[in-house]
Formats: sequence, structure tokens, C-alpha cells
Amino acid sequence: MARRERADLVVVGAGTIGGWAATFAREDGIGRVVVLERGLAGGGASSRAAGIVRAQGGTPATVALGCWTIDFYHGQAARYGTDSGFRELGYLILAITAEDESDGRARVAMQRRVGLNVRWLSPAEACAEVPTLAADGHRGGSFISTDGAIDPPRNVLAYSLAMRQAGVELRERTAFTGLRVERGRVVGVDTSSGSIETERVLLTGGPTLREVGRIAGVRIPAGAVRHQIAVTEPHPAFDVARQPMVFDLARGLYWRLEDGGLLFGMSNPDEPPGPATEIDWPYLRRMRRRLDRFVPAARGLGLRRAWAATIDFTPDHLPILGPGLDPSGAPIPGLWVASPGGHGMMWGPGVSRVAADLVATGRTDLVDLADLGLDRFDADGRSRIAPDAVALPFPVLATD
Ligand SMILES: Cc1cc2nc3c(=O)[nH]c(=O)nc-3n(C[C@H](O)[C@H](O)[C@H](O)COP(=O)(O)OP(=O)(O)OC[C@H]3O[C@@H](n4cnc5c(N)ncnc54)[C@H](O)[C@@H]3O)c2cc1C
Repeated sequence: MARRERADLVVVGAGTIGGWAATFAREDGIGRVVVLERGLAGGGASSRAAGIVRAQGGTPATVALGCWTIDFYHGQAARYGTDSGFRELGYLILAITAEDESDGRARVAMQRRVGLNVRWLSPAEACAEVPTLAADGHRGGSFISTDGAIDPPRNVLAYSLAMRQAGVELRERTAFTGLRVERGRVVGVDTSSGSIETERVLLTGGPTLREVGRIAGVRIPAGAVRHQIAVTEPHPAFDVARQPMVFDLARGLYWRLEDGGLLFGMSNPDEPPGPATEIDWPYLRRMRRRLDRFVPAARGLGLRRAWAATIDFTPDHLPILGPGLDPSGAPIPGLWVASPGGHGMMWGPGVSRVAADLVATGRTDLVDLADLGLDRFDADGRSRIAPDAVALPFPVLATD
């Protein structure tokens, strides 16, 4: 017999966004918080990420989300008795062309204006910070020592434990199958094991957010595409406690220390949107050759592991945070949407903090939400906002 019950908040999706948002909501005093997860917690993008965390965003809002998130990672152990494994490594964002350099210097000026202690490094200064970086083939880049990386599976464990400690009810293998709206307001959800009465629903879904939106009757221009990661075998040059991560921004190739070797990740801008089903070895080899040019010590190293997974993205590379909208564009009271736009490790806890604020009070002090809601997209999913320039080269989103 199907269950019929009541909750004060239903969160769809137990990825890093749903997990941390549900925890924060409970900590804020929201009574009964139920998280619906159609698979297992963390089984979406959140367990498969590279774990890069940076405050070096391309807009004041994404700098703020990155800073909040890094502070949160630093404070986790004291707050929860566990953490997401954040390691401060430093991050160099390379410029290859003169245009990259002038864009990068303008970005640094903006970031400094909002209080981020980032600086521009010449090629020689960049090589002094990152001893394994080749001296030529780049024009230096922006650098901050406080960016770093988390361990994504450990983050899933951390929010799973935090949810439990906070008293969140996690329902795994339970799909959200419908939104109940009466007189324009949210009154409940349907799930694969019955319905739940509630006046508040938070939709998350990462690479499947568009589909979650469709179930709720809300158009969400969020995309999904293949993203690939590989880890080299160990090498003494990388078997060190600390060495900055590097991002070849123009090509969407990044690398960082992992298990005594290098982890490198890449997105192919020519990749058609859609779920990842296998590794694209020719593209991985192409990016490997590029990595070898920048990191001579990586040449000839074997691969310890490689994987392809589906990453989320938004048309302007910015998060989506705001009310769910009905087909006429009017907010549906009680319905909220949260997407980290493919940056759930670096902005996730910040995005979740904002989502929990919205659910409780309809507002937040963390970022200016004027440009982050669904109302920034036109009927074809085009954003009226300039994209965040510090992002992977995601494809153009296909329209519905
Ligand atoms: C290979 C790879 C590398 C990445 N590297 C980085 C990185 O270095 N730094 C960074 O910041 N970000 C990175 N990302 C992006 C980051 O992982 C995502 O932005 C983030 O995990 C998204 O979190 P989420 O909670 O929104 O989505 P997810 O983790 O995908 O969680 C959504 C959940 O919703 C569930 N769901 C879907 N439909 C339903 C339904 N109908 N009912 C119930 N549940 C449902 C899914 O099963 C899933 O568990 C990477 C992603 C990938 C794939």
C-alpha cells in the first residue's frame, strides 16, 4: 500500500547540492526534511568529479561562492567531525595567447576588487611556483595559493554523515515522479513509493536537472556532456605534499597531484551534449600530448586509471539559483531550483547554502541573485548574462 506522509521540505537528488542543502536546512530548524534519490547518494556527478576547488571565478558572484565554499571545507572537521578532504595546493590559470593574458589580467583586477588575494605571475614566476611546468609555451597566469582540491568520494561520505547527524531522512532508490500544485502553490510530490505532502520542494539533479524540471513541469536549460579524467602512474616529481594545480583555460585541460602522479581532466568543446557512455581515447590521447608539452616530467608515464562521466553545465556556465517558474514565467511559490552549473566541488556548499536560505526565507546574503535565476534564460535557453569566462569549454545547449 502506497505511503502518504508529510514533510516540511522535500529535496530531489542526493548529490553534493541536495546533500549539503538538506543538511543546512535541518540545521536552520526546518522540521522534517526528506531527500529523494532515485539511485544511491552520490551516484550522479558528485562521486565522479576531479575535485578542483577554486575561488578564482570569472564574476563577483562565483568568487563569493568559491570563497564561501573553501571556508566551509576548512571548517568541516570542527563542525561535523569529518571533512571532504580539502587540500590547499594553489592554482595557476595559464594564459597562452596575448588575448588570454589581457583577459586574465582584467579578471585578476576584478577579483582583487572583490577581495581575493590573487596575482598575475610572469612565465618565470609561474615556473618558480610550479616546478614541473615547462618554461615556454605560455605567458604565465593568474595565481592564488589558497585554491585546492577535495576528494569527491570523501565529500559524498561527508555529506551523507552530516545529513544523518542533522536528522535528514534520505530515501535512496526512490524517484521523484511528479509535483503537486494547487491554486498555483506547491502542495506535495509524487514518488515511486507514494506521495508526500509538503509546501517546499528543492529541485537538484546535476546532469539530469533538465529531466527533473520536466517532471515538475518547469523548463530548466541545464545540459549534460561527457567529461574525462585520467591519472598517471606515480613519479618522484609529483610525489610531493604540495604543488599548485594548473588550468590551461583555453583548452579546458587541467591537472593536479593525485596518488604520487598527476590527475588530468578535459572537456571537448566539439562533443555533442548527452550522457557519457565511454572514454573517447583519441581525444584523451590528444590532451595527453598537450599535457606532456606543459609538464615534461609526465612524458612517457603510464595511466593508472581513466574514466568518463557526465558533467552538468548551464548555457552561461553560472549556477542556477531561484524559484521554479511556471510556463508563463511566474514563480511557483514553494518551488526552488539549484544547479552548480558544472562546478559542484568548487561552489557546491555555497550553492547549497543559498538554496537552504531560499527555501527558508526566500532570500540570501551570500550572493546577489538578480542574475542567477531561471528568468535570465529566453525560451530557447539563451542567457541574457555574459558567461563566466573561467569555465570548461562546454558545448552549446540543444534546445528542447
Ligand atoms: C568527470 C567530472 C569531473 C568534474 N570535476 C569537477 C571539479 O574538478 N570541480 C568542480 O567544481 N566540479 C566538477 N565536476 C562537476 C560536479 O561534479 C557537479 O557540478 C556536481 O557534482 C553536481 O552536483 P549535483 O548535486 O547538482 O548533481 P549530482 O551529483 O549529479 O546529483 C543529482 C542526483 O539527482 C538524482 N536524481 C535525478 N533524477 C532524480 C529523480 N527523478 N528522483 C530522485 N533523484 C533523482 C541523481 O540520481 C543524482 O544522484 C565534475 C563532474 C564530472 C562528471
